[in-house]
Amino acid sequence: MPLELITIPCLSDNYAFLLVNAAGEAALVDAPEAAPVNAVLAARGLTLTTILLTHHHWDHVEGLAGLTTAPSPRLIGAQADAHRLPPLTEALSEGERITVLGEEVDIYDVSGHTVGHIAFHFPASGLVFTGDSLMAFGCGRLFEGTPAQMYHSLAKLAALPDETLVCSGHEYTASNARFASAVMPDTSAISARSAETDRLRSAGQFTIPSTLALEKATNPFLLAPDAGSFAKLRAQKDDF
Ligand code: ZN
Ligand code: FE
Repeated sequence: MPLELITIPCLSDNYAFLLVNAAGEAALVDAPEAAPVNAVLAARGLTLTTILLTHHHWDHVEGLAGLTTAPSPRLIGAQADAHRLPPLTEALSEGERITVLGEEVDIYDVSGHTVGHIAFHFPASGLVFTGDSLMAFGCGRLFEGTPAQMYHSLAKLAALPDETLVCSGHEYTASNARFASAVMPDTSAISARSAETDRLRSAGQFTIPSTLALEKATNPFLLAPDAGSFAKLRAQKDDF
């Protein structure tokens, strides 16, 4: 049975994600803020046993200390970030496979936004948690890595199955849509997605998760043909 996904808005534009199994055990991906997560756990009577961290930025870890967890929860993050994350119980690198809530999870290094940023792929449930690497209609700003690093990180994610749900860390889709419309050829897929983004946001709905198929068809950063074009596009977005 696939895991249930609950998307929880936090802070001004962050998302945290809860995964829930049939036994009522939950795993959290990123911890921007404790209160909204604790509220869902309490309302649903869930036990938080596992926390997965995509990267070290404060808006993905700030809520950790206040979370209502089971005793001795698993705290999972990147080996490369272990020195700048709270003490991890499991420090992981690309290619490792772990089990979370009874389901296998593959670890990908998706450096670029930060170096040491990881993504968590749950093949059986068809979910990938990309943090601030691949984002809906866009990608994260390059704070630590090079354009080439991010380009290769996005290529790895693009190779996952098309129907995979992309669970990314921020509601930036409307601003990404304006950029896509400004810089990309006016394809029907891109204009349809921009219109759908506006519709969802004016209805107060989330645009996250998206599907990988949609990202491959419309995300300017996945459509960049090579690392050089990607670098130009990312620089343009920084000034947009
Ligand atoms: Zn970040
Ligand atoms: Fe962030």
